Amino acid sequence: MFRFARIVMPAAFLAATATAANALDGVVASIKPVHSLVAAVMGDTGTPALLVQGAASPHGFTLKPSQAGELEQARLVFWIGHELEPFLEKPMETIAAQAQSVELIEAEGLIRLAPREGGMFEAHDDHDGDHGADEDDHGHGAFDPHVWLDPENARIFVREIERALSAADPANAAAYRANGEATMARLDVLSQDVRTTLASAKGSGFVVFHDAYHYFENRFEVRASGSITVSPEVMPGAARIAEIRASMKQLGAACVFAEPQFEPKLIDVIMEGTGARTGALDPLGAQLDDGPDLYFNLIRNMASAMRDCLAAGN
Ligand SMILES: [Zn+2]
Repeated sequence: MFRFARIVMPAAFLAATATAANALDGVVASIKPVHSLVAAVMGDTGTPALLVQGAASPHGFTLKPSQAGELEQARLVFWIGHELEPFLEKPMETIAAQAQSVELIEAEGLIRLAPREGGMFEAHDDHDGDHGADEDDHGHGAFDPHVWLDPENARIFVREIERALSAADPANAAAYRANGEATMARLDVLSQDVRTTLASAKGSGFVVFHDAYHYFENRFEVRASGSITVSPEVMPGAARIAEIRASMKQLGAACVFAEPQFEPKLIDVIMEGTGARTGALDPLGAQLDDGPDLYFNLIRNMASAMRDCLAAGN
């Protein structure tokens, strides 16, 4: 029984391990992909809180009172920027005024693309169907806000996250640097893997229900031929369905990609008779477990969903 007696740590040992044992509290991330990269850089120094959980969309999100409390206590808030998360704009100036705000879309060296509008790309911001007229400006910012879907941009995020964490918590700077380097190496492997996965899918056109993929297309040389705005909550009327089917025909696209929040039945009704195959893309990782692996699974799943649908016709 003495073998199980509690070990009393000598004071010198406690002092030597104090920095590693001190968790950094008060780190908040907006959406799952950002949370994932922050968690990867933090490693075992602490766990960031996540605001937009489950299948919720950042475009039409509202903060819960408990999350307002979290922001009030926050030291560091990582988010993409007001173009993607308009719900954070005011709270960052009021309840989270004590926290350091890290708007990743402003990171130096980030690849930023102009929003696609006109032609076969329907306006992006009304895909939720519940935006008020005054909110429309957010979807039409200077840049397309879906910046995380290019792993090269994720590298820039990792550097920015590492810098902000080290400034807030210098005692763990070495851990942040090591975790950041390990994450960079994983991102390199990820890009290589995606290129291999998509090798057979190049050159085939596809249509999306939400124009979120410009950065991914730009990096991996696949091309959407257009986007069609469909709300996941509301079945479009007969006239709208006819219009969508006509666009599909005109685009001659082999595949249509919806997102997890769309009922397969809704997609079937819209696509009936067009001859297009359907697949699903999950740009936020809505269906994935939170944590350091989420970002990598998100990008890998996106690549295989594209390959599975596009290469099926080759
Ligand atoms: Zn979007």
